[in-house]
Amino acid sequence: MKLSKHFVRDEFEISDLAVRRGIDNRIPDIKLANLECLVKDLLQPLRDSLGQPVMVASGYRCARLNREIAGSRNSAHTLALAADVWVANLSTFDLTEHVAKSELPFDCVVNEFGCWTHIQAPLPGHAPRRNVMTAHKLANNHTRVSDGNRLVDESRRLV
Ligand SMILES: [Zn+2]
Repeated sequence: MKLSKHFVRDEFEISDLAVRRGIDNRIPDIKLANLECLVKDLLQPLRDSLGQPVMVASGYRCARLNREIAGSRNSAHTLALAADVWVANLSTFDLTEHVAKSELPFDCVVNEFGCWTHIQAPLPGHAPRRNVMTAHKLANNHTRVSDGNRLVDESRRLV
């Protein structure tokens, strides 16, 4: 099912882990309106502004899949309001910064470990908070999230 010029429903449901563990990760109809907002308000305009494909690494997660990947209990992925995305030849830092500096009505954008950018739409009826965050993996495998508009370029720091 086509959601916009460049996005289809399938790419938000596909998960290697779900396939391997026999988890049905299809998006329930009741959450489709959320996905449509995410695509029409954020991902398609982002794709248009970049002029190149925005790849979805992780989109919707049903409750079981979210548990199995140890996602946060209130993850917007379970509401079909968030996607982890990447763009070829663009660092996670630059992609996150591009979104942060745009006029897009995002609820939050997170540079996650310098690996992908988490883009989240607001809950239906809520104003976009436009929070910009950076998630770091700590040595003990916990995650620390720094908030505010201060982005840390993990890849440049590692060089
Ligand atoms: Zn995410």
